[in-house]
Amino acid sequence: MSGKTFYITTAIDYVNSKPHLGTAYEKVAADIIARYHRLIGDDVLFLMGNDEHSQKVEAAARAQGLSPLAWCDLMEKEFRDAWKALDISFDDFIRTTEPRHVAAVKEMLTRIHAAGDVYQDVYEGWYCTGCEAFKNEGDLVDGKCPDHLSTAPTFLEEKNWFFRLSKYESFLKDYYAEHPDFVRPAIRRNELTSLLDSGLKDISISREGATWGVPVPFDETAVVYVWFDALINYIAGLGWPDDSERFERYWPADLHLIGKDITRFHCIIWPAMLKSAGLPLPAQVFGHGFVNMGKDRMSKSLGTAVDPQSLADRFGADALRWYLTSEAGFGKDLEYGEDRLVERANTDLANGLGNLLSRSVSMLVRYLGGVVPAPPAAPPMRSKVEEAVPVYREALDDLDLKGAADAAMSIVHRANVYVDEKAPWAMAKDPAQKDALAGVLYELMESCRVAGVLLTPFMPAKMAELRERLGEDAEAAPKIDDASWGGLPEGRKLTKPSPLFTKLALDEADAS
Ligand SMILES: [Zn+2]
Repeated sequence: MSGKTFYITTAIDYVNSKPHLGTAYEKVAADIIARYHRLIGDDVLFLMGNDEHSQKVEAAARAQGLSPLAWCDLMEKEFRDAWKALDISFDDFIRTTEPRHVAAVKEMLTRIHAAGDVYQDVYEGWYCTGCEAFKNEGDLVDGKCPDHLSTAPTFLEEKNWFFRLSKYESFLKDYYAEHPDFVRPAIRRNELTSLLDSGLKDISISREGATWGVPVPFDETAVVYVWFDALINYIAGLGWPDDSERFERYWPADLHLIGKDITRFHCIIWPAMLKSAGLPLPAQVFGHGFVNMGKDRMSKSLGTAVDPQSLADRFGADALRWYLTSEAGFGKDLEYGEDRLVERANTDLANGLGNLLSRSVSMLVRYLGGVVPAPPAAPPMRSKVEEAVPVYREALDDLDLKGAADAAMSIVHRANVYVDEKAPWAMAKDPAQKDALAGVLYELMESCRVAGVLLTPFMPAKMAELRERLGEDAEAAPKIDDASWGGLPEGRKLTKPSPLFTKLALDEADAS
């Protein structure tokens, strides 16, 4: 290991319903980033989890005749099954009902109270249960939350605890100015900068009379507002405040990966909470785009949810992961289309990488008895590979998932053109070209091997299969040094491979 730590988190999910494709998109992206950091040798901690103290979770449980906790236990399994089906490699999974989380919430409240940042007042205003958020009159359109048109907001009049967010306005402005990469992409930073410029109001952080939640440590008649509770998972997951060794090793987080709709919580409220509690701020918050279906954002509440697990069953987890992260620039919205998923998988994977591997190894078997030849002296494909690897690394260091996917796939595309230029089947007929033929076949297989290393974070299971077909150890996780040219050893014997990817087809019934 490099000794460098990399702590990455995703948003934790409300468990009122099963994960949808929008939720899955975020986890897949985070997983690719986490796996890339393992590839380059970082000591990675990748945290995910479930957000359980929400009114809509409580309502979903009651509707099933279950206690909230019994419901959350059932949903934990649903979420873990979905993440398993998508090959998400989180290192830790936190539930906000766990004692370690409850302890951290109580400690945070105690600290900000001691800092003089908490006071009691009456909250009179709107609350959207869909967002689990207090809403200003100006946030509503025709009296409704624009993100939750089917559920009317509730008017509350509660004696609540307030957090002095306004006190941190100038601190945050300075922090944004000094840390231009704190909020990304730039469009999100600009939105939050204007929000800061318009002035911050104190926020309500408790719910009077509610019982499903973490009790306010200095007022047992109220529970902590679910968002204030949820944000604390990022340090509770590190064992704060008890496990100071783990906390000091991984905190501050390198990256909070979240949806673009919850930046206000993560980039304004959360840093102010941390500052109030005397804790350092995370290095970066990235607000990714939505997965849209037609004009609508993919979410359960809009009734456009697509089940990621059934997509993974139909098309394969790796094809789904590839489509989600190589189709649109990261940070922008993705227009979901099953036809596009199938097309990307067939073009890049079945016809691109799969075909390259299959024809290369088949020709090796036919022309050289399956024995890997010596590396040639000045191979053109080596230059292509050595140009692509740094582009790939720079892209992933910059969270440009599509850029990295394109860089890795550019090796495959170049190699497929190279085969046709060189026409090994013609060279094989001319004994004078025996050495040249061996050199070309080495280049093709080595190009597959290196592309396989770079594509491992995107398609971990399929790239393990690729390593196996090239006689590598399928179980051993590759490292970035394995992407250096010349790693395929001379003399290794390979056999004719079965296809790595099968061509996908749209179901007739779905092709409307
Ligand atoms: Zn809402």
